[in-house]
Amino acid sequence: MSLKRSLKLAFLKVGALYHNSRDSRVLYYHDIHSAASFTDMSTPIELFEKHIDALREKGYKVVDEIKSEKGEVELTFDDGFRGLYENFDFFIENSIPVKLFLVTDFIGKDGYLSKIEIDEMLRTKLLKVESHGTSHTNLDTLKKRDLVFELQDSKKRLEDLFGMEIEEICFPRGRFSEMVLAEARKAGYIKMYSSLPGPYHKRFRERLIFRSLVQHADESEFDAILRGGDQIYFSRYLKMHYTEESPV
Ligand SMILES: [Zn+2]
Repeated sequence: MSLKRSLKLAFLKVGALYHNSRDSRVLYYHDIHSAASFTDMSTPIELFEKHIDALREKGYKVVDEIKSEKGEVELTFDDGFRGLYENFDFFIENSIPVKLFLVTDFIGKDGYLSKIEIDEMLRTKLLKVESHGTSHTNLDTLKKRDLVFELQDSKKRLEDLFGMEIEEICFPRGRFSEMVLAEARKAGYIKMYSSLPGPYHKRFRERLIFRSLVQHADESEFDAILRGGDQIYFSRYLKMHYTEESPV
């Protein structure tokens, strides 16, 4: 293990000791692969299986929407890469619900899921799709008019494509501002997923959901994150992802 990674694990463990909770939380990934991967953010299926085993051993329930304050986990995937479809049998065999945040411009592109593949996964009732914007642009860099377009266009296009209501959004690269939050609420989003670590029921802003990145977490890191270890990095992530003001 590299020095940087050992250090990160040490901090995660300190955070886990400090928080040491069984709070329900949202975990996020980008893709899963068993053969070739479509992105370097992808998780090998063997590692993903270890995460699922760990959740079972620790008595966590994987749910499609968290309700309980403790012991529940929601699994989310960003961007819409194809590996999820290629490995979806694992989800079916183990009845694992998953939420996928789609970038509408990426659907059907090379390395990304097609409408047919998404439809097939939707039919299992294990998959839910929500918005990740139209073009994966950092929303906090956009002027109001372009921001409103990203929020409304992705919502409407997904609703037309899949015939369901889209009420949740995940901010591209986790980036948001006060204007992004306000306009997303106005566009009708009832949940906005961030990349800030924290328990599901805790709010930094109204309707803003915390998430923990676990795509490359080994068993010790995963265990520490599940206990709230990554919350030690909250201010660092906040600085990277949140700006109060964005262009008007
Ligand atoms: Zn993304």
